[in-house]
Amino acid sequence: MSTLFATLNLPEAQLSNLDNLGYQKMTAIQSSALPHALQGADLIAQAKTGSGKTAVFAITLLAKLDPQNFAAQALVLCPTRELSTQVANEIRRLARYQPNIKVVTLTGGQPLSPQAASLEHGAHVIVGTPGRINDHIGKRTLDLSKIHTLVLDEADRMLEMGFMEDISKIIRLTPAYRQTLLFSATYPDDIKALSKQFQRNPVQVKAETLHQANAITQHSFLCQKHERLPALETLLAHFKPRSAVIFCNMKVGVREITEHLQQRGFSVKALHGEMEQRDRDEVFVQFKHHSFNFLIATDVAARGLDIEDLPCVINYELPHDPDIYIHRVGRTGRAGKEGLALNLLTDAERHKLTDIGIAQQTELDFEVISAIAGSTLTPRQPPNMTLCIAAGRKEKVRPGDILGALTGDGGIDGKAVGKIDVLDYAAYVAIERSVAKQAVTRLANGTIKGRKFKVKLL
Ligand code: AMP
Repeated sequence: MSTLFATLNLPEAQLSNLDNLGYQKMTAIQSSALPHALQGADLIAQAKTGSGKTAVFAITLLAKLDPQNFAAQALVLCPTRELSTQVANEIRRLARYQPNIKVVTLTGGQPLSPQAASLEHGAHVIVGTPGRINDHIGKRTLDLSKIHTLVLDEADRMLEMGFMEDISKIIRLTPAYRQTLLFSATYPDDIKALSKQFQRNPVQVKAETLHQANAITQHSFLCQKHERLPALETLLAHFKPRSAVIFCNMKVGVREITEHLQQRGFSVKALHGEMEQRDRDEVFVQFKHHSFNFLIATDVAARGLDIEDLPCVINYELPHDPDIYIHRVGRTGRAGKEGLALNLLTDAERHKLTDIGIAQQTELDFEVISAIAGSTLTPRQPPNMTLCIAAGRKEKVRPGDILGALTGDGGIDGKAVGKIDVLDYAAYVAIERSVAKQAVTRLANGTIKGRKFKVKLL
């Protein structure tokens, strides 16, 4: 099977766009799925975050879009708002080869009417959660009669979250001739039933390696139940990861670790399901910006989050389900980089390690935590800070406008500016810590696209 995008029947402009994005070779799921999907076949793809699955459906649906027609032509259903935002951003990147493709996200936690207004202006691609999309259908603000590509992303998660009924209702409103692409990390009976009901002769594809176990070094340490917090510090002191996601099974654990590490001077933030959506977005953006070092999270809150360049995952507790372990650990060791997974377990949890070993077909050894005790660690300052500007996509602010405002005459050096994320309601800029204050002053005294916006450091 060829792994070059050029072997696919794609417009030249898309091939050079892919090249500009640094997508040289196809990932395993892309080379097995794209040839079928581009021919219009229905697909069941077993693939996880990190496999490059988003590009499979994004490239497929974009190839079929008619930019002149402002009816909604493609619909992507996702389990969470975070995943919807990521998917919409990836579609926008992959759509750059065609001018003026509109991608709208429809998710909860925000008022309906601005979303309805965006729809009224015309949208080619809709990305959102089943609940909110149904709300729009109920209010007659969304017409699905021209949808030619329907994507169910992380379908297993959507069913787990109880979205079956919403999904069925939505699919019934789309035309029967549509192409249906179903993505799921696991393939339980309810997914089979969903496929049987809504797909025609689907081609089934699977990423060869769901989890690049060989790129990830895994170490497990036995500790007493009451020793978990000091054991976590021992891990940080011994392995010295510059950044890590620390997973807990429950949000009480998240709070406990966050407070403990903060008291010790570590740069950490919590992410759990009870936080307001906007706070979650901000925490996640700051983590991606390297504006703090350790993200303490539950599985629910971290679901679907895609973090490039994550050197380490720590399981403060082992999850009950080996699939969840594989999912957690698969967030490190991406894109050919080496990853590190560190696990803490008590005696009573040893069976979980055995189950994980069976699931990933590699037996996992463990040692006692005292074997690596003794190192000390001075908490490190994160390299960057995150600037928040009260101007988002709604104000038509683009990353280039912000970069220009920061760096123009007498401004700061462009090299000190990192990722710029423009969300619907605000923009976030990663900026080197040493010039962060200067950057705020510059923006506070200047303008972006001729307008003044509120600016603060997070
Ligand atoms: P996904 O599994 O869709 O969440 O994608 C994981 C990451 O891989 C995203 O950051 C994509 O932008 C990136 N990606 C997807 N396909 C490729 C490719 N062929 N080459 C390089 N990076 C890719």
